[in-house]
Amino acid sequence: MSECTHDCSTCGESCGERTEPQSFLKPHNPAARVGKVYGVVSGKGGVGKSMVTSQLAVLARRAGRRVGVLDADVTGPSIPKAFGVHQRAMADERGMLPVETKTGIQLISVNLLLDDETDPVIWRGPVIGGVVTQFWTDVIWDVDYLFVDMPPGTGDVALSVFQSIPLDGIIIVASPQELVSMVVEKAVKMAEMMSVPILGVVENMSCLICPDCGREIPLFGQGKTEAAAEAHGLPLLARMPIDPTLAQLTDEGRIEDHQSQQLTPVIEAIL
Ligand code: ADP
Repeated sequence: MSECTHDCSTCGESCGERTEPQSFLKPHNPAARVGKVYGVVSGKGGVGKSMVTSQLAVLARRAGRRVGVLDADVTGPSIPKAFGVHQRAMADERGMLPVETKTGIQLISVNLLLDDETDPVIWRGPVIGGVVTQFWTDVIWDVDYLFVDMPPGTGDVALSVFQSIPLDGIIIVASPQELVSMVVEKAVKMAEMMSVPILGVVENMSCLICPDCGREIPLFGQGKTEAAAEAHGLPLLARMPIDPTLAQLTDEGRIEDHQSQQLTPVIEAIL
């Protein structure tokens, strides 16, 4: 054995001085109870990541589980509005308390902390990353399943969420064009580098259903997305059409009233 340089990354020996790679994962609030944690990610904004996160929470709640949503999309927080939640989150001496929706889903979002929810969040990346980490470390969750609406893309905020919250798996949301062009590939690689298992892909805005005849109109071409997902070894878990009723219910803060079954395979895989 050669002389020890104390740099374990350059040596394969398992001696008494060996140090493990440092983990940045943080524990949750000691007063919290959290079962499984799933992140919902996308390659870019506006593809329906928050909508899928909210719907997964609604379906898990309907299945009788205790559910929370951690809105880590700090610069585009749309979760509270979709649930019609506008009150401020409170705290006690143990930590921050999530706000409950009408069906009992626990929510935390930067919008629940702002004086005026239309105020923009003009913070730099490290501050935003710190706030998201606190949503994990300080909030008194009491949930079987926590869904994290991840920041879009693969920037420093997304990285700090991946590093600090111990995710059990991620679900990737992509539009058909994104899947084909593999804008999502960076998100896939990020999850792999962080050793987080990928459950699969939800293709959103796959098609439009004609309100008159019910025919599916594939807006962005047909049949290419399964092949694109498969090429990257990702199961296509669900396909969601553009649904005007869903858009309207979301705008009215009534996403819990939506009854579609498209995401059932995803929630079955999770539960
Ligand atoms: P992201 O979180 O990726 O930025 P959102 O979930 O906020 O995107 O979705 C962007 C907008 O598109 C929202 O107004 C949302 O209600 C709407 N939307 C998303 N998916 C659908 C869909 N399948 N049908 C109708 N509207 C949708």
